[in-house]
Amino acid sequence: MSATAVPAPALRHPTLPLFTRRAALLGVGGLLALPALGRDAKPQPAAPTVWPHALAVPGGVARLSLGPAATRPVAQARQGHADVPVLVVGDAIAWTAVVGIPLSAMPGDAHITVATADGGTRQVAYTVAPKQYKEQHLKVSPRTVDLSPQDQARFERERDHQAQVMATFSEQPAGGALQSLRMQVPVPGRRSSSFGLRRVFNGQPRNPHSGMDIAAATGTPIVAPLPGKVIDVGDYFFNGGTVWLDHGQGLLTMYCHLSSMDVRVGDVLRAGEAFCKVGATGRVTGPHLHWGVMLNRTMVDPALFVPA
Ligand SMILES: [Zn+2]
Repeated sequence: MSATAVPAPALRHPTLPLFTRRAALLGVGGLLALPALGRDAKPQPAAPTVWPHALAVPGGVARLSLGPAATRPVAQARQGHADVPVLVVGDAIAWTAVVGIPLSAMPGDAHITVATADGGTRQVAYTVAPKQYKEQHLKVSPRTVDLSPQDQARFERERDHQAQVMATFSEQPAGGALQSLRMQVPVPGRRSSSFGLRRVFNGQPRNPHSGMDIAAATGTPIVAPLPGKVIDVGDYFFNGGTVWLDHGQGLLTMYCHLSSMDVRVGDVLRAGEAFCKVGATGRVTGPHLHWGVMLNRTMVDPALFVPA
């Protein structure tokens, strides 16, 4: 029997408090026998060794059981008008797809498509629960919102280059097979919880904040959170000094506003190896690391990958 054959009732309403889930299971008539209720309503204990934390909301991560298969299943997520390959980890006994959910995703039914041994495909469904992110209104000098034609042209060139970097998908990470997805925090410091914050400058909505800001002094070394390969090093209009790492199968991490970048494209890093330093380059008000984590070309909350 495949692991997907038995739906876990308690997981259908992941955002509801336990008693509400229990009520949902009972229905209006409360017809379920009590022993069954007691068993089904028990929260599923999260395995402490499983990373990232599953949180199926916009900007979160869905972990989907794909069951057994001799070789790693090929899975894809529909994003906009493109099919984007999805990270799959595990072994012949149990494979798991780890799916990044875009901040722009609508709550409701979603699915990935998995190639089957007979050359066809099957769909594996999940539900995106709603999450309301905070909104921040800022009044700033119009010059900082409306770019000059030169700056706008530079920004567009850089955006196209970044899109190519983000499309990186390597089957295997440079350091060997993808094992644990548990990351170490790349730099010590106070971590913001501003992932997903919707920012409105002078009444104009901007892209939501798509990473974690970690406050640290300029020059503080930043370490690789997992083994990885350097796939981009650059100095960009908004992001300043920036490095991208590829950890395999579309799991990428991004480091911005750096004061120094001590690597080149192609370098392979061990987990914990220092490779760049905190700075205040690009559009920032003070030194910090902007840390981004990307799965299937979508930025997800880095907090799901690190110990609290
Ligand atoms: Zn940031």
